[in-house]
Parts: sequence; structure tokens; C-alpha cells
Amino acid sequence: MTHLLSVLVHTPAHSQVDGPLTYRSELALSPGVLVRVPLGKREILGVVWDAPECVASVLDPGKLRPIAGALDGIAPLSLAWRQLLTFAASYYQRSAGEVALAALPPQLRDLNTQQLARRLKRHAKPAEPDSDENRSAIDSLALTPEQTRAINQFDAETGPFLLFGSTGSGKTEVYLHCVQQLLAQDPSAQAMVMVPEINLTPQLEDRFMARFKPLYGDSAVVSLHSGMTPAQRLKSWLAAHSGRARIVLGTRMAVFASLPSLKLIIVDEEHDPSYKQQEGARYSARDLAVYRGRLEGAKVMLGSATPSLESWHHSRPACEGGRYVRLEMPSRIGSASLPLVRRVDMNHQPKKCVFSPPLLDAITQRIARGEQSMVFLNRRGYAPVLHCSDCDWKSECPHCSAFRVFHKIDRTLRCHHCGFTERVPRACPACGNPDIAPLGRGTEKLEEHLAELLAAVRRPNSVSPEWPEGEPVRIARIDADTTKLKGELESQLARVHSGEVDVLVGTQMIAKGHDFRRITLVAAVNPDSALFSSDFRAPERLFSLLMQAAGRAGRDADISGQSEMWVQTFHPKHALFEALKRHDYPAFAAQQLKEREQAAMPPFSFQALVRAEARTQEVAQGFLTRASAAVDEMPQAQSIRNNISLYPAVPMSIQRIANVERAQMLIESPSRAALQLFLTQWQAVLHATRHQPEGKGLIRWAVDVDPLAI
Ligand code: ADP
Ligand code: ZN
Ligand code: ZN
Repeated sequence: MTHLLSVLVHTPAHSQVDGPLTYRSELALSPGVLVRVPLGKREILGVVWDAPECVASVLDPGKLRPIAGALDGIAPLSLAWRQLLTFAASYYQRSAGEVALAALPPQLRDLNTQQLARRLKRHAKPAEPDSDENRSAIDSLALTPEQTRAINQFDAETGPFLLFGSTGSGKTEVYLHCVQQLLAQDPSAQAMVMVPEINLTPQLEDRFMARFKPLYGDSAVVSLHSGMTPAQRLKSWLAAHSGRARIVLGTRMAVFASLPSLKLIIVDEEHDPSYKQQEGARYSARDLAVYRGRLEGAKVMLGSATPSLESWHHSRPACEGGRYVRLEMPSRIGSASLPLVRRVDMNHQPKKCVFSPPLLDAITQRIARGEQSMVFLNRRGYAPVLHCSDCDWKSECPHCSAFRVFHKIDRTLRCHHCGFTERVPRACPACGNPDIAPLGRGTEKLEEHLAELLAAVRRPNSVSPEWPEGEPVRIARIDADTTKLKGELESQLARVHSGEVDVLVGTQMIAKGHDFRRITLVAAVNPDSALFSSDFRAPERLFSLLMQAAGRAGRDADISGQSEMWVQTFHPKHALFEALKRHDYPAFAAQQLKEREQAAMPPFSFQALVRAEARTQEVAQGFLTRASAAVDEMPQAQSIRNNISLYPAVPMSIQRIANVERAQMLIESPSRAALQLFLTQWQAVLHATRHQPEGKGLIRWAVDVDPLAI
């Protein structure tokens, strides 16, 4: 008896193959079974897919190729998983094969059947039994009234939930509690905990490991993120898929993990832009988590001190149309209060000063008291651009419309977009002036500058505090450059935690998530540029970043007499800083949402971007313009025109990368459903446009649904 199987294989977005392929099989295999199938001369991984009704009758089974084999030993992927992947592919305008196969661990694709069988045998060890001794040792922390109220509400309702809690309000403790409660009640239940970037939040991972490994054994908690080796990822994936792992901790990719008994999904720092994938299928893991929760009947809890305006808007009262349940925890744990926000009006400070005298004084005083300060700058590198003061030459990249960054460490100019690197010229290439110097400041320069300013300051001597000489100030810098190697971030953070550092200088990397105990002063030295950005989300990001940064100060009630957040700005009266001063996210959100509503911006409208790449800007834009005009030839053109706005094609803000010109076109609609329907139908038009004169010379195009930056 021969069976016909629909099998999903990896088909890139622009290949002609769309949807599953049909194969023959001697065995009837149910949907979700992993198989190896021939494709051309290769043998590749596929997933038996839910067959479209018509396939069996149309095709001649004699012409079909047989599958090479099924991966027995791995249970079929569930219906809910297949539905999630089908939805993600269609919502983000990609092929199901591409999205589904990319969601599986790479080794599942790369290993042959024998190699896999060996892996499976090795990983199939039974979980260690958990001991009652350990179990009782855990429940020691008494919840605060706010935590208790949030948890009671979480238990009583179905959600989705938005846990809106200040930094240090004990959100992590709430996550731990909800997970623990679930696992204790239901012996097979699984929970997924998502974090923005695991290497930036090692403490959250540690806390979950520390809490649950003693309870359920070492293999009960697994991680899933891109920093792991392919072998580790396969191991974690199998543990989750087999149900052995009770908790999966992961970054955005984890949203596609297979968990047969998923009952709870937590998305920590839900506002973080890194939940949005920026290539291939540009999915939002946060949004998919909410969708997945509904599919699988799992509760979903999003958590943040500064929620995305989308989630905040969803959590408005139900009577106003809100769909999420808002859980509020406004207070910090213990007596630690939120830091006092101080705005320094830079209009009244010495010209060109980087550290205003009052800020410098404040840092000096903290040092004298043996407390730590943190200074952050939203930039990386030594100083972004090299500049000639005679002729105004700047270190532009010859291949991109971007400036190359001066890297002092190897004296190079590097393009952060295309990677083009050259040694720093001895003199200005335009006019020969030997006196070329960095423009603006990066963290490295900031660190150097601060070291000069604090050279005469002495910290109390750690051995004998009365000794008047004291010791020199210890400054440390944490940014992308100092943490390239594995383990460097951890070791640098450990130095900060142990008190070996007086002033920490860094990029926004240090502003996120870390539970610093001894920092009592945080300073943002130059936050203004985000106030007047062309990106309508820039103020939201800045506010969130400043609130997060403020949350790093005074986390330890014992030493925070009064912790402070300093903001140096030329616009101290700006509404954003007014709200920051009061730690008033709701006020900030209300003001922003009002502006967005008036301008019909998300969340009051829905957007997609089509991007096109070509050798010339004319070709890239011409392709988009033609595809846009072709809307009038589509069926129901009038109704599309009524519901959908297609804006003119424009060059992207980074217009050229590695000699490829990039253009984009914004598409907007007041209705998500209308936008979805249009995009799906318009795909055929885009494909067809490629083969018209306007498509000649086009390199590629892609759609970004719900783009984060425009
Ligand atoms: P958040 O995730 O909201 O920033 P955390 O969960 O990290 O806050 O809590 C901040 C600090 O307070 C942590 O050190 C945590 O161990 C402690 N903490 C949390 N809940 C309690 C509690 N109920 N009692 C005592 N300490 C707590
Ligand atoms: Zn010059
Ligand atoms: Zn470049």
C-alpha cells in the first residue's frame, strides 16, 4: 500500500516552490513526523505536513519519489506547533517551509539518520529524582503584598497579562513563583521564559537555574539561544520536545521551540526591540508568544517597567477595548526608593563640556563615600567619525552612505555596515592637513576623558579608611568592544558586583537588566539626539532606556541614602524628561499615545515595509513604484485603495551598503486584517513585477510586517 505524504521542506522566500511537496511512502505517517526526503540530488530534512485536500487525487503516484526515511525516536511535532508555524509564515509573508525548517535546530537538518540516532540514545537519560529536602529549602521568600496581589490576579484570570512593575519591584520573583506553582500542580507542565538577550541577562538565567535545578534535576531547565553550539541547541531542543525539560529559557528563537505540554509563557522586558527578528522572516517573538498562548491554551505574561506602547495600549481597561490584564507593582522591594532624577541644563554649562561641573562633583562625592556610579552613552567605538577641521572632510565609507568609525585600538577606520576597513590616513585625504581628529565621543573617549577629570580624586583607602592619601579612582568600561570574547562580559560584571570598580562607563548594554547592588548614581551624558529623531519610536526607546538605567541605581536599600539619575540635556523642560523626573511611565505613555492617535501611527494603524535592493537607487525605487501602481490592476482595486495607503518609494536611511542601493516603501492601514489580506494578494504582483522591465537589475525584495524602525 502506497501512501501520499505532503512534506514541508526548506523553500526560500523567492523560490518557485511554495507549500509542501508530495512524496510516496510505504508507511502511513501522521502530520508532524520528521522525515528525510530526496530533493534534486540531495537528501534533506522535511516535516510531514497537513495535506491540502486535493493533492491525492490530482497527482500520479507512480511519478512521485519515495521518502528516504522517517526519524523515528523523535515524536511528531504537535498540531499547535504546526499551526503556529503556518500562522507565522503567512503573517510575516514568508514560505511555510522556510519558517518551519529554520525553527528546528540546525543539527536536526545536518546530521544523517545514524548520527541522529546516536545523539538520541545519548540524551535519553532519565531525569534525576528530586529530593524533598531540596524542595522544602526553597519556599523561604515571603511575597510582598503587591506580588501576592499580582499572583492572585494571575491565578484567577486567563490573560494575557502585562506585569507592569518598576525596576526592582520583584517581577522576576513573580515569574519564579508562577512557574514554580505551575510545575508543582501539574507534573507534566512546561513553562517557557523568554529574555531579550541571554548574555545580557545572565542573572535571570542563574536565578532560574538556582531555583529549579535542585527541585527538578539539572536537565529540567534548558536554554535556547544563538550563543550555544549546534550540539547544545539540539540537546536543549530534544529535552523540550520530549517533555523532559520543564522550563525553557530562551531568546526570541525559543518562541518556536516544541513543548508538548506548554502551559505558561513569560516574556521578560517585553518592550525590548531584540524580540523582533531583523532578517529572513521578520517575526516578533513577543507577538507570536501571545498568539501561541491562545493556540495552546497556555497563559502568557509579558513583563516590563516600561512596556511597549502597543502592549500598554492593549492593557487599557476592558471597557475601553483592552485585551490584556494589567498587573501593577509600582513599589520597589524593601525601603529602596526610586532615584531622584536631576536634569542638568546644558545651556548654562561651559561650552563643549562633556561632563558638567555639577555632575562631576556628584560623582566625586559618591567615590568619596565608597559608592559606585554609572555613566552611559548610546554609542559604541572610540569616536565615531574622523574629521578635518580645515576642509570639513569626514571619514565617509566609499561603499555606503555612512561614516566609518575610528577604532583607536588598531588605528583603523571601519564601516559598521559593510565592514570596509582601512588604516587611518596620516593626513586629511582631501586637503593634506595632518591635524585630523575624532568628532564626537564614544565610550572609549568618554572613559579616557573621565579618567583625566578624576585623576586628582582619591577613593577611601580600603585597608585603613582614615589614611588620607586614599587610592586612585578605578574606572571600567563595558561595551560591545570590551566584551567581544566569550566570558568577558561576565568577568567584567563580576568586578563591578564585587566592588572593584568606582565608575562604570558604557553603552546601553550596561543600562539593561543587571542587578547592580552598589550603584547609587547613574548619568546619561548626551541623550538629546533621540528627542528629534525621524523615527517615531525614538522617544519611546529613550524613555525606556533612561528608566531602565535609573533602575540600576539604588537597588540595595542598605546603601542607598538617596540614589540619583542625572540627565544632561539642552531641553530640560521636554515632556519626556518631566515624566522621567516623576518616574511616571503612564503619563509618558498617555502623552505619546495621544500623539500617535492624532498622527494615525501604530498602535492606531498597522504598517508594513517593502524593501528593495539593487545596484542603483533608480532600479530599487522603480521596482517599488511599479508594484505600487499595479495595485490598480488587482481585483477589488477600489476597496484596496480605500483601506490601504501606499507611500512613495524612498531611499532607506542607510541608503547604500557594500555598493548595494536600498529603497523602501511604507504601507499603512487602519485595519490589521485589511493589511494582511492585501499583502497576501500583493505577493503575486511583486513576483510578477520582478520579471517586468522595472524589475531588471533588482537584487532582492522583502516585506517587513509591523516594522520597528522606518
Ligand atoms: P525586578 O525583576 O522587578 O527588577 P527582582 O525580582 O529582581 O525585581 O527583585 C529585586 C530584588 O528584590 C532581588 O534581589 C530579589 O531577590 C528581591 N526580592 C524580590 N521579591 C522579594 C520578596 N518578596 N522579599 C524579599 N526580597 C525580594
Ligand atoms: Zn581636510
Ligand atoms: Zn561601508
